[in-house]
Amino acid sequence: MITRSPIPLQRQAPTPSPGAWQAQLSGAIRDPRELCRRLALDERWWPGAATGHALFEVRVPEAYLARIRPGDPHDPLLRQVLPLDEESRSIPGFVTDPLEEREHTPKRGLIHKYAGRVLLIASPACAINCRYCFRRHFPYDENAPSRAQWANTLDYLHADDSIREAILSGGDPLAASDRQLGWLVEQLEAIPHLKRLRIHTRLPVVIPDRIDEALLDWLGRTRLQKVVVLHINHPNEIDEAVIDACRRLRGAGVTLLNQSVLLAGVNDDVPTLAALSERLFEADVLPYYLHVLDPVEGAAHFEIDDAAARMLVDTLRRELPGFLMPTLVREIPGEASKTPL
Ligand SMILES: *Cc1c(COP(=O)(O)O)cnc(C)c1O
Ligand code: SF4
Repeated sequence: MITRSPIPLQRQAPTPSPGAWQAQLSGAIRDPRELCRRLALDERWWPGAATGHALFEVRVPEAYLARIRPGDPHDPLLRQVLPLDEESRSIPGFVTDPLEEREHTPKRGLIHKYAGRVLLIASPACAINCRYCFRRHFPYDENAPSRAQWANTLDYLHADDSIREAILSGGDPLAASDRQLGWLVEQLEAIPHLKRLRIHTRLPVVIPDRIDEALLDWLGRTRLQKVVVLHINHPNEIDEAVIDACRRLRGAGVTLLNQSVLLAGVNDDVPTLAALSERLFEADVLPYYLHVLDPVEGAAHFEIDDAAARMLVDTLRRELPGFLMPTLVREIPGEASKTPL
């Protein structure tokens, strides 16, 4: 008789203890020089980092820092978080509110641009400050909306039965406390025509311990169907801890999607984009959108022109199964949906 060793069970990582992520969030690096020193970057990067930091502050949690190669100023993860002198240049067409969102906010913290879906700003804060972010100039205060302020927004949702999906956004909605989020989701559940809860977040990538018992508790309990859209731009962002966080989310019945931004010097080549899709699928995540950069002031050095973007995606399509292809889109103010390129 042939004896076989048992099939190894999937490695089961322990669920992080509730709230441990908050210490990681408050311990994030917020000093441009410290960022350079920790990554053994030459002093010539310091002045640029200070200039960019004055425009949009540095924020990098340790768990993300650990995935950056020290001594490499071109590391694709570092490029997403290291401020550069280029950010202070004024480039025609690059503006402070490229999406003109200020015009679509019927209630404070609510954006209703697309049919059937409303976007709710559940937390103005982020766990990481991404240099290309279109919200780098958005007029947020750092406080999460209070329950009294939510009342207005919830009235709006109750009154419009064409709304089937609530999208929690930010900043990063998962920067809010589980007490706040649990309360909010209970309010949303009470709206009979609401079917889906969507969460757009980078936190499970930046601080995987965010997906803890307290979060899984409210997320696992809701009657709403759940979609989490992660925001990952490069395969190096997906380490074992991120894969474990995705597994916990899937265990709570969440459909996982990913959106990326096409960024010069980060992911603007076919091998990187193909590796990203493959790695996402290993984490049980499907690619959703590949956004071209929103023309936000301070981010012009990340731009890829449309012709180059189309060529990249056309080549990528020959390398990947259709279900691993993200849709290349642009957000055009005033349009009724994202616009495919
Ligand atoms: C992107 C976006 C959505 C969601 O669009 P989908 O195409 O459904 O992913 C909804 N509301 C606003 C304001 C958006 O910017
Ligand atoms: S909103 Fe998203 S892209 Fe912008 S800084 Fe926050 S995590 Fe980064």
